[in-house]
Amino acid sequence: PVILGIESSCDETSAAVYADGVMLSNIIANQTIHEAYGGVVPELASRVHQQNIIPAVQQAISNAKVSKNDIDAVAFTRGPGLLGSLLVGVSFAKAFALAQNLPLIEVNHMQAHILAHFIDEPKPTFPFLCLTVSGGHTQIVLVKDFFDMEVIGHTQDDAAGEAMDKTSKILGLPYPGGPLIDKHARLGNPKAYQFPEPQIPGYNFSFSGLKTSILYFIQKNEAATPGFVQNNLADICASVEHRIVTILLNKLSKAALDLGIKDIALAGGVSANTGLRQGLQELGAKHGWNTFIPRMEYCTDNAAMIAVAGYYKFLKNDFTDQHVAPLARMPF
Ligand code: ATP
Ligand code: MG
Ligand code: FE
Repeated sequence: PVILGIESSCDETSAAVYADGVMLSNIIANQTIHEAYGGVVPELASRVHQQNIIPAVQQAISNAKVSKNDIDAVAFTRGPGLLGSLLVGVSFAKAFALAQNLPLIEVNHMQAHILAHFIDEPKPTFPFLCLTVSGGHTQIVLVKDFFDMEVIGHTQDDAAGEAMDKTSKILGLPYPGGPLIDKHARLGNPKAYQFPEPQIPGYNFSFSGLKTSILYFIQKNEAATPGFVQNNLADICASVEHRIVTILLNKLSKAALDLGIKDIALAGGVSANTGLRQGLQELGAKHGWNTFIPRMEYCTDNAAMIAVAGYYKFLKNDFTDQHVAPLARMPF
């Protein structure tokens, strides 16, 4: 089957076409309007989705070199995400399906981040563990099958991506800060400054204490030595990134060793982070794991992952109907 995927959960408007094992196109329209506000403004995001959705879908269909009559089903992100943003993608998917007389497939955005591993080879084998780290989520997921996933650890407060973005804001860098922390960290010493590792039970995480300690550290040093941040930016970014990465990988290792699982994957926007990618590869080499890291364009929000998730639901005849509504919160 040929699946059209639609993603609009946050601030990327994306459309992709997937046909039996091949991703034919994946168009991602980023929204730059939020930079001026230091974070995503939900009302603006939904308006920009409205402007971008039709061009993104047209481009995805034309890049795929198919006609819209070749499409067999429409898969869309039902949630979780910003309600106004989701509404644009859900409404478009329903209208397109109605006009073309196609079945609809609802997809959970967080499951789709994980199922991005089924776009390219090599694919992980079930059961595998996936560390899903994004702007809104930090989870260790035991993936037993395509749609049988169990969250065995999660953050009690901020997500890892949020910790990156909030730290970068403290450092005076623009939004979104994650990629900038990554860039500066490459030039710095990760051991220059020691930030605390929270002691959280089980496979859970906490990042709000880290954020506060970074804030106090910066305020103290900037007061004592004006220009501290500017003069030590690379070392600060490297040290912050190092701490976030070790918090993530220590819990992931613990889960992998406890459960005896050797297929270990990363997913979500923060899996674009160079330090995290390298850290997982080193850990995998040490423990003899098969590690899986998505291609960059499949880490942050994209419709390719929605299309591939939709494809596996199509094979199970798992369809939804025209009454479906978006869900801002949507557990697995
Ligand atoms: P969710 O998937 O939880 O709904 P989201 O869709 O907003 O949240 P993603 O697009 O998956 O999140 O990821 C965005 C996050 O990834 C942002 O916090 C961003 O700073 C972070 N990020 C992206 N690239 C990098 C990088 N190279 N290093 C660190 N963080 C990064
Ligand atoms: Mg985004
Ligand atoms: Fe996401």
